Amino acid sequence: MFEKVNFERSIFTLNDKPQQSLPEVILCGRSNVGKSSFINSLCRQKHLAKASSTPGKTRSINYYNVDDKFYLIDLPGYGYAKTSLEERAHWGKLVSEFIFNSPNIKLAIHFIDSRHKPTDLDIKLHELLVTSNLTQIILLSKADKLKQSEYKKEVDSIKTFFPEFIKGENLFFHSSTKATGRKEIASILNSLFYLK
Ligand code: GDP
Repeated sequence: MFEKVNFERSIFTLNDKPQQSLPEVILCGRSNVGKSSFINSLCRQKHLAKASSTPGKTRSINYYNVDDKFYLIDLPGYGYAKTSLEERAHWGKLVSEFIFNSPNIKLAIHFIDSRHKPTDLDIKLHELLVTSNLTQIILLSKADKLKQSEYKKEVDSIKTFFPEFIKGENLFFHSSTKATGRKEIASILNSLFYLK
């Protein structure tokens, strides 16, 4: 599992999607939430995905081919509260068009920073994923920055926004630096794409 992982391409318009049809896992969430670091940690490659230190920089949709079994697709992140209306509209259009035109999506992983409440765009993204009937997982990222005693409070807080999520089933803490949650996600991907 995760033996041959290649960055395949970045696209800016839907016309440039790869020809090859594979099942897809989409990674979505705010800029800087830790998606690139997740890819590197999951695939045990330090520089596969470029971790960005500038929020909002990554505008492209990035395809990673995993063992020719599935695509991990890093969708553009959205910004913080101060994001301009124009930027929000651009993000919303690109991501919703991508989702509506991607019949091969098997799983959506929504990253939320474990130290912060979901933003209004996190809530919009969640609604979009629900409307699209996609199976979702929430990863609470950068969990190494939380104290153990804060974990339960964080789960309770997330459940006030998204009551259908259950820790250990479709809600996980994740840390790329400590590999928290890696085993659980690998196991889900294993049963989706390798055991069939
Ligand atoms: P992306 O924009 O969602 O792809 O986020 P990146 O993976 O580029 O991460 C943004 C910043 O957060 C970088 O400075 C990373 O080093 C840091 N970061 C990412 N994941 C973690 C994590 O699990 N723990 C900690 N402490 N920092 C992280």
